[in-house]
Amino acid sequence: MTKPAPKQQTILTHAGREPDRHHGFVNTPVVRGSTVLFETLDALEAGDQEYRYGRHGTPTAKGAGAAINQLEGGAGTLLCPSGLSAIAVSLLSCLRSGDEVLVTDSAYGPTRSFCDRMLADYGISTRYFDPRSGPRIAQLIRPETKAIFLESPGSLTFEIQDIAAIRREAGLGVTIVADNTWATPLFYRPLSLGADIVVHAGTKMFSGHSDVMIGTITANERSIGPVRRTYAGHGIHCSPDDAFLMARGLRTLSVRMKEHELRALELAKWLLEQEGVREVLHPGLPGHPDYSVFARDFSGSGSLFSFIMDPAPRTAIAAMLDPMKLFGMGYSWGGFESLILPFDPRPIRTAVPWTQPGNCFRLHVGFEDFGDLKDELAAGLKRYLAAAK
Ligand SMILES: *Cc1c(COP(=O)(O)O)cnc(C)c1O
Repeated sequence: MTKPAPKQQTILTHAGREPDRHHGFVNTPVVRGSTVLFETLDALEAGDQEYRYGRHGTPTAKGAGAAINQLEGGAGTLLCPSGLSAIAVSLLSCLRSGDEVLVTDSAYGPTRSFCDRMLADYGISTRYFDPRSGPRIAQLIRPETKAIFLESPGSLTFEIQDIAAIRREAGLGVTIVADNTWATPLFYRPLSLGADIVVHAGTKMFSGHSDVMIGTITANERSIGPVRRTYAGHGIHCSPDDAFLMARGLRTLSVRMKEHELRALELAKWLLEQEGVREVLHPGLPGHPDYSVFARDFSGSGSLFSFIMDPAPRTAIAAMLDPMKLFGMGYSWGGFESLILPFDPRPIRTAVPWTQPGNCFRLHVGFEDFGDLKDELAAGLKRYLAAAK
């Protein structure tokens, strides 16, 4: 009889730990090191020792990677110094001079910059597509299209992509890379829907405490070889201290995600009813244009969503945000603390121009008292409306 596969919560608490190899200590310790010694000439020449040199991996990084790999259902997982470097290594692993990558128009800004600047330098071109193309993506695929990059949902504007439909249309000759930072593998498993490579900004939910920069790449059998080659060839390495902190964050990911989900949905529903709010961009709301794909493919939603306020001058945005004490203003997200960020999608949309009027705000809903958060947001909306008059 085969044992049933462990469930995600059990993986989160047990995967990547080997107390019997670390004097019984529950967590894999931080192993800092460059040189690893070999006992004999035979061992040195065989090259099959588990650890050979710091850059090739440490027990700390290996444990953290193994946990992510099990969660995503991959053939291998590598840790990178940031989410952006994980995206860069993934795309470089499957693109060559003369190739083209199709990128969702809703992708994270620095992902776009990497494509527009770095890939362009290497003779690789980028075309952006409507994040809601679905099966129509088939019409965009050319002989030189070798990769498709997805971010579902887009982390500012929250459009969902149908990975299974895209895989059906694209065939197997195109590598599909998916940024899964928002949902985490607890709520969404892109490899099981047809993606080849999943990347994460582990900086966000995995770490969970706004104190680490880290990225992860998980690939299927077909893509793990090229990913390993590109990673090793560029000398990419992740600090064991950062790997340790990410592994520590992972152990509580399921309780944090459930709490984030409830709070974000509750706040999103509340915002729908507020004066001056034109639209709430949260794929878990039944009114969201992609709700049917979301409900089919995701088992939960994240901490992050956006809303659009009726048009008003910049002074209204400042009047709303500057006095806030609980919602901090800053980049990144995924920590225990709430954040708010004003943004303008117009400069970073090229496939489909962003034409909706109004000012956009993104919220990351943290763990402060929920009533306190709502009160602060309500007071902020009032100041916005007063300044808009
Ligand atoms: C933050 C973020 C990244 C980049 O991660 P860093 O660790 O900041 O490099 C990539 N994708 C998404 C969706 C993000 O939110």
